[in-house]
Amino acid sequence: MSVSPGVARRLVRAAVMPAPRAPIEMREYPEPPLAPGEAILETLASEVCGTDVHLWHGRLAGVPYPLIPGHVAAGRIAALAPPVADLDGRPFHEGDVVAFLDVHGTCGACWYCLVAKESTRCPYRRVYGITYGANDGLLGGWAERIHLRAGVRLLRLPEGLDPFTYVSGGCGAVTAYHAVRRGGVRLGDAVVVLGTGPVGQSAIAFASLSGAAPVLAVGAPDNRLAMARRMGADATFSIETHDAEARRKALFDLTHGRGADVVIEATGDPAAVPEGAELCRDGGVLVVAGQYTDTGETRVNPHSLINRKHLEVRGCWGSDYSHFDGAIRAMARHQGRVPWGEQVGRWFSLDEAGEALEQVAGQKLIKAGIAPAGAPVAALRG
Ligand SMILES: [Zn+2]
Ligand SMILES: [Zn+2]
Repeated sequence: MSVSPGVARRLVRAAVMPAPRAPIEMREYPEPPLAPGEAILETLASEVCGTDVHLWHGRLAGVPYPLIPGHVAAGRIAALAPPVADLDGRPFHEGDVVAFLDVHGTCGACWYCLVAKESTRCPYRRVYGITYGANDGLLGGWAERIHLRAGVRLLRLPEGLDPFTYVSGGCGAVTAYHAVRRGGVRLGDAVVVLGTGPVGQSAIAFASLSGAAPVLAVGAPDNRLAMARRMGADATFSIETHDAEARRKALFDLTHGRGADVVIEATGDPAAVPEGAELCRDGGVLVVAGQYTDTGETRVNPHSLINRKHLEVRGCWGSDYSHFDGAIRAMARHQGRVPWGEQVGRWFSLDEAGEALEQVAGQKLIKAGIAPAGAPVAALRG
């Protein structure tokens, strides 16, 4: 598809974060002409997650403000310029309801991609709504339409998984899927999840679905702990009523006095890392998923917590297509027993994006949804 010079292009409304701490503004951008391999998505659902709060607080380096946030989104293909196909070579068509991997530009040709096979460390990796700014184009979900550049990986939402339920799990679900895989969680493992935000909630669900038993969660406040139990936690412990020693004792009592096979840290608090190490059994695995921004240092006794304990500590940074694909398929399969749709406490219009951000920043909601084309209705929930 191309547009002749002089022909007015459609203006697309977007909620823009002009700079850290600045109020969200509505701006308009011309819809771009499409080059081969590109598509325009009509946004049905996007989200406000913890990363957007970090972006607003200016806690991530190298972010090209102004920004159209919303790295995770789903929508309907409004226009495309072939070839745009899925991994099996099946072409996409206008009208298809799809999600896309927010990570774009991973080169498949650098040392990290080819030798280390750690594509999340590829220097060419860019992320919609985070490291692409508004000056790069319509590359974030807080907009009526999203420009899907050539090479962006699209996935048709499986039958029965509507875009609102997918986005309710959203990036927390994809990150949690990565963390649970990274931890190598197996049938019968005792798993402790530290943190009951969106990543922790979905980590509980995926650990439980993997056959872990028991799955134990530590977090706050009480409504998040109640949600954690609905997501699959066998028992929960509040950091507001149990101090670190009381938590350790309670969790050891439930793990034969030895500690967990796998601990998944999803808190963002540096002190949770040594606590997680302590809660692991000897020879256990600690996955550090929650330290996405630099919130400082912590003290670790390397003798007692790592060396003598023979502990494996695994960092978990970003996600790749396999985690996106796996999380979506697991959500489609298990959404009947795991209430992913409840993770978003409220759906906001595009014009309300600033309010949505404030509510998440103030921890009034675990997550907020942004629905530029209107909030979910029963018919779309399938
Ligand atoms: Zn690369
Ligand atoms: Zn996110």
